[in-house]
Amino acid sequence: MSTPTRTEVSSLGEFGLIDHLTKNVELQHASTILGIGDDGAVIDHFGKQTVISSDLLVEGIHFDLTYTPLRHLGYKSVVVNLSDIYAMNAQPTQITVNIAFSNRFSVEALQELYEGILSACNKYGVDLIGGDTSSSNKGLLISVTALGEVAPDQFVKRSTAQKGDLICVSGYLGGAFLGLTLLEREKRIYLENPQVQPDLENEAFIVGRLLKPEARKDIIQYLEDQQIKPTSMMDISDGLSSEVLHLCKQSQLGCRIYEDKLPIHEDARRAAFKFGLDPTVCALNGGEDYELIFTVRQDDYEKLTLQEEISVVGYMADLDEGHKIISKGGNTFDITAQGWKAF
Ligand code: ADP
Ligand code: MG
Repeated sequence: MSTPTRTEVSSLGEFGLIDHLTKNVELQHASTILGIGDDGAVIDHFGKQTVISSDLLVEGIHFDLTYTPLRHLGYKSVVVNLSDIYAMNAQPTQITVNIAFSNRFSVEALQELYEGILSACNKYGVDLIGGDTSSSNKGLLISVTALGEVAPDQFVKRSTAQKGDLICVSGYLGGAFLGLTLLEREKRIYLENPQVQPDLENEAFIVGRLLKPEARKDIIQYLEDQQIKPTSMMDISDGLSSEVLHLCKQSQLGCRIYEDKLPIHEDARRAAFKFGLDPTVCALNGGEDYELIFTVRQDDYEKLTLQEEISVVGYMADLDEGHKIISKGGNTFDITAQGWKAF
């Protein structure tokens, strides 16, 4: 087997590295007036409003390179930011990327990271317009800032849900947490016995949910096509329980969620049982699904049923009715943001 080439970052220097990583960047948006190469980028959203969102990802805290390919990490760092822009009912247009890395990382490794970043930019049609590059004493840090545009005052906040509105979620919940559980388990086995090769073949769904999340551009498009404007919205990065409580708190309302309405994929359900976990608990408390949660007026219900990727899971209630989930057996439990293990 030939050893892969390893080019030290020091051989290119900082500017050489930036050139190398960004030489294939092509700008697509008329709103990008000036991209990489100057002290600042210039954008003009031509009368639209600009939405901005940032995330910071730290090795060992937010990702583990033992089982995360750099390409996937690059892709995911962009997607999680775009998810925030869509959650504001806006269209992402540009990103900036800041990275800091120790000398453990070669030019080839950083290039892989950028292949993932640029692949996400292509897929979602956003321009990479700048960033910053630094060395770090230990590990890898990635910070992405996404900019988006929205027609004046068409952005959707968390605080504007109304009593009686339907609570909707996109896609499936709990899969990413189960993917993480599996990979952490396989990592432990591998560290104890490096001869054992992990068998992830039957678990492509949950592993994919963790390592290759997508942002729900399609759902925002669908809502626009159907002329449904959500009354409130956010993305699901910390689990449904936590996020629904955010919507409720900021809108000063209570809620009802129905266990039997939670969208749980068959593969996730099977994996949960294999690990001795309750699929409902995974769907409520597992993080990193990057789906959308939003509320709509009851009049919009008919239009929602046309889209099978949207599930109505409950409704907003008065604040004094509390925050409750109704189990399949008809029992009522309080929704708590953490450690909810009632079933
Ligand atoms: P400054 O000295 O102002 O920090 P740099 O030399 O770091 O400027 O950056 C030069 C250009 O390259 C700028 O346009 C900057 O936005 C861009 N850039 C720097 N680092 C990155 C990166 N990691 N990814 C994308 N663009 C970058
Ligand atoms: Mg710089």
